[in-house]
Amino acid sequence: MSHKIITILKNKVSKKIWNNWFSTFSIKEINEEKAIFAVENLFIKDWLQTKYGSLIAKSIKEATGKSLKFEIRYEKESDPSVEPDNHQKGPLVKRKPLMISKLNPEYTFESFVSGAENRAICAVSRQIAEMPGRYNPFFIYGGVGLGKTHILQAIAHKAMEVNPDCRVLYITSEQFLNDMIESIKKGSVKDFRELYRKKADVLLIDDIQFLIGKDGVQTELFHTFNELHDAGKQIVICSDRNPNELDGFHERMISRFQMGMVMEIAAPEKDTRYEIAKRLARREAYDLSDDITTMFAENIRGNIRRLRGAIIKLILYSSIYNKDSDISLAQKVLASYVPSITVSKRKDELEMIITTIENLLDVERKKIFGKSRKKNVVLARQVLIYILKNDFGRSITEIGKLINRTHSTVIHSLKKIEKSISSNEDPSLSNIVNTVVEKVMAASAAS
Ligand code: ADP
Ligand code: MG
Repeated sequence: MSHKIITILKNKVSKKIWNNWFSTFSIKEINEEKAIFAVENLFIKDWLQTKYGSLIAKSIKEATGKSLKFEIRYEKESDPSVEPDNHQKGPLVKRKPLMISKLNPEYTFESFVSGAENRAICAVSRQIAEMPGRYNPFFIYGGVGLGKTHILQAIAHKAMEVNPDCRVLYITSEQFLNDMIESIKKGSVKDFRELYRKKADVLLIDDIQFLIGKDGVQTELFHTFNELHDAGKQIVICSDRNPNELDGFHERMISRFQMGMVMEIAAPEKDTRYEIAKRLARREAYDLSDDITTMFAENIRGNIRRLRGAIIKLILYSSIYNKDSDISLAQKVLASYVPSITVSKRKDELEMIITTIENLLDVERKKIFGKSRKKNVVLARQVLIYILKNDFGRSITEIGKLINRTHSTVIHSLKKIEKSISSNEDPSLSNIVNTVVEKVMAASAAS
C-alpha cells in the first residue's frame, strides 16, 4: 500500500531519480512526533538525507499537515556479494594486467628520492610491490606534499613490473565514492562490487580521509576490505593523518587499518631536498648551480610541491631574463616562497622598486603613497602593486599596509591590472611593468 507521503514525494521528482534513489524507500512508521522510513542501502540512506531531506520534509508536511521530524533507517538487504559465484565455473579467461585508473608514469621508486628519513617506508613499499599481501594492510600517513601519492603509485608500477599478471587498482577514495554512486544510478552495483572485491590483487586507496563522516561508503569499503583481506589480496591506504585520528570513521574500520603495518611518511631532510631540486633541474636541462640548489634546499622545507614550484619558476624567469644560474634572480624567486627571507634584503629590494618607478614614470613617491587620482599617479601606484605581488611575492596584506589601502582595494587594483595586461588593453602597461622589473633586477644584481 502506498502512503500519501510517498505519492506526493513521487510527484516531486523525476521518474529517473525515483527509480535510482527511492525504489526501496518505504514507510515504516508514523507517530505524533515523526515519520520513519526505511531503505535497503546504507549509502542511499545518507544520500537521501543530504540531497532530498528538504523534499521529504515538504512532502510530509503536505500529506499530514504537520511538520513532523523524520528519520531514514537502513534495513539490511541480502548482500549480493555472498551469492554463489558463477564465475569460477566459466572457462578460464587469461588475466590481463588491470590498470583501471591512469597512473602518473613519473611516480616510480626510481624517481623517488629517499634520505634516511624515508628509507624504511621505501623498503616496506618495495617489498609489498614484490610480494603483495606481505604487510596487510599497509597504511601510510603524513602531511601534504610529502610524497604519499608518489609512493602509492610507485608500488602500483612496481607490482605490475614484477608480475605482469598482477591486477593493480589505484584509486582515490573520492573516486571509490563516485564509482559507487554511479553504479547505484546505473543499477550496476554488482559490477562495482565485482571490480573492487574480486578483480584486484592489489588495491591502493589514496586520501582515505575524504571518507570521514560518510557512513554509507565506509560500510561498502568495509566489506570490500574484508573480502580482499580474507583472500590475501594486498591493500594499501594513504591518509593525511594517523588511523586513530580519523574521527568520524567507524571504529571497526580503524581497527582494520591498524591490523597490518602503519607508517608515517617524514618530511624530506635538507639533503633529500637538495637532490630533488638537482634532479628536477637536470630533467629540464637547466644548469642549477650548487649554491642556488643549497639555497633552495635550505629554505623551502616540507611540502615538495613548493620546492618544485620554486625551481620551475626560477627556470622560467631565467629564460625570460636570459640569466642562467643567477643568484639575485634566485633570491627573488625564493623570496616569494619564503616570506621571512632576510628583512634587510627585502627592504633594499622595496626601495629599489620604488625608486625605479619614480624615475621611470616621473612620479614622486609621496604622490604614489598619497590620495591623488591623477592618471600618471594611479598608473605608478598600480604598477607598484602589481610588481610587488606578481614579481616579488609580497602578500596583499603587506602591500595594503605599504600603500595605505585596504585589502579589498589592493585586490581590486590587482584584478584590474591583471585584466588589462592579459587582454593587452594598454600595451604600454606590460612594457612598463617589464622595464621596471628588469631594472630592479639589474640594479640588485649589480649591488
Ligand atoms: P602527497 O600525496 O603526500 O600530498 P605527492 O606524492 O603528490 O604528495 O608529492 C608531491 C610532489 O612532490 C609530487 O610531484 C612528487 O613526485 C614530489 N615528491 C614528493 N616527495 C618526493 C621525493 N622524496 N622524491 C621525489 N619527488 C618527490
Ligand atoms: Mg596525494
